[in-house]
Amino acid sequence: MTVCWHETPILDPGAFHDYERAILEQASAGDVPLGFARLKPCALLGAFDDQNRSLRRSFVDGHLPVARRRTGGGSLYVDAGTTLMVAAMPRALAPRQTLTALIAMIGEVIAKTLRDQGIPAAFTAPNDITDDGRKRGSVFVVWVGDQILIEAALLFAIDIEALMKTIKLPLEKLSADGLLAAAQRFAPIGGARPSAVAARVYPAMAAALATRLTTDAVRQSPPAVCITPLPPCGDELSPDVSAFLKTPGGVLYLDLLLDDGVVGAARIVGGVQCAGANDLRRLTMAMTGVSLDELERAVLAAAPGDALGFDRTDLAYLARLCVERQGLGERLGIPGDAERVTLYSPRRDQGFLDLLADVGALLLPYCAKPTWCKWRHRDGCPECGHCAVGEAYRLGRERGLPVTTITRYEHLHMVLAQLRAAGVRAFLGVCCTEFFLKRDYAFIEGGLGALFIDIGGDTCYTLRAEESAYRGQFTAEATLDPRLLERVLRLSDTHYPSIQNE
Ligand code: SF4
Ligand code: SF4
Repeated sequence: MTVCWHETPILDPGAFHDYERAILEQASAGDVPLGFARLKPCALLGAFDDQNRSLRRSFVDGHLPVARRRTGGGSLYVDAGTTLMVAAMPRALAPRQTLTALIAMIGEVIAKTLRDQGIPAAFTAPNDITDDGRKRGSVFVVWVGDQILIEAALLFAIDIEALMKTIKLPLEKLSADGLLAAAQRFAPIGGARPSAVAARVYPAMAAALATRLTTDAVRQSPPAVCITPLPPCGDELSPDVSAFLKTPGGVLYLDLLLDDGVVGAARIVGGVQCAGANDLRRLTMAMTGVSLDELERAVLAAAPGDALGFDRTDLAYLARLCVERQGLGERLGIPGDAERVTLYSPRRDQGFLDLLADVGALLLPYCAKPTWCKWRHRDGCPECGHCAVGEAYRLGRERGLPVTTITRYEHLHMVLAQLRAAGVRAFLGVCCTEFFLKRDYAFIEGGLGALFIDIGGDTCYTLRAEESAYRGQFTAEATLDPRLLERVLRLSDTHYPSIQNE
């Protein structure tokens, strides 16, 4: 067994699938192929990712080819500045390694090789190569039959503007104080001379992998590959009900098509990594035909045991969130409306109705107030009758709920601490889903349960203005739906009339 390494010319994105096949085929012949591939600009989806949730379609469609890789993990914007390191080896070489351990092992080899080349780098779990917290690359691994397919995105140079336009970054990675601040979250490996640095790093990486496998490295020609026409970005199934769950391994989404209380079809997607290429598909098949009452148990029994940063209990909870949302939709009378209501239970022990029973405050975002209103950047509202926020204030006050306009990020922290100190167990909040996903640690720290109603219109994430928004300087107006807020509050009147009397 030898590590046979090569460097490709810049490939058409439509050739990447066949390139992965060629690497796997070479591995099945007994060697460890290792390629350094570069692609023309494209969006490269993770195996399980949903393009509608991860790509900014308004920019990508008709502008950028979209290819899908065999490994999971987050979707990437790739151009000639990114090298995709692709390797495969027999599973027998790492018989008892978990996915997490294998990714860490590969990540450590890459980071050490970079350090040996004088480039500061560390492996940061779950799967990043970083320098002082700034990203230099990511590692993705999947089992394909008897082979382990290893891929790493090595960021030798980064086109931040193209990246930000292409990918909806799932975590707190964007700053819209401009491209400069976003650029500070990345540390390109190549500095001012990416090609020269890459030419040094590739053979060093091959030698390091060979040393790790106690063998030699030889350079070869790249395999010949076919270009497959890439399908246009399609719109995929419209689910009856969906739920999402943020985990250390990424955001998991579950979409269900229902047939009279029974799962007709299921889909689990996200920029996540599972050991087996078919693990999530198998799980969704096990969900099909199962009644909603039984869904959580069925998921717990069939969920894959080896994944990065999430486990069976996360998948089972995701199923419960979907069932909860379906129940809320039935109560609201318009199922689609429940998709705009998100449940947050810190200990995962409260459903929608439990949280409604505990709601002791209403929090509203300043961004839904008109830009001309003198109360936009202040807490409070005299209910002048000129916007939906005033209506929300009226609905909350009618029920005896203290209502607060959150004016900036630090204000949110302060209000959550005050509510907790006052013994409030849960609140009803209006904010965009992106804020909840990216800043969930504010709520985790707050320790309170919450029901969030999504806002509509332009959010500061779609306009890429988060940083100014956190400081309370977002200048666009989001839309708040007082009709939905009222219907959610009415549910609490129906089920828990005591809230009105507190
Ligand atoms: S209802 Fe309140 S927030 Fe809306 S415009 Fe009037 S004062 Fe401003
Ligand atoms: S993150 Fe921006 S759009 Fe979302 S709720 Fe806050 S201010 Fe509004």
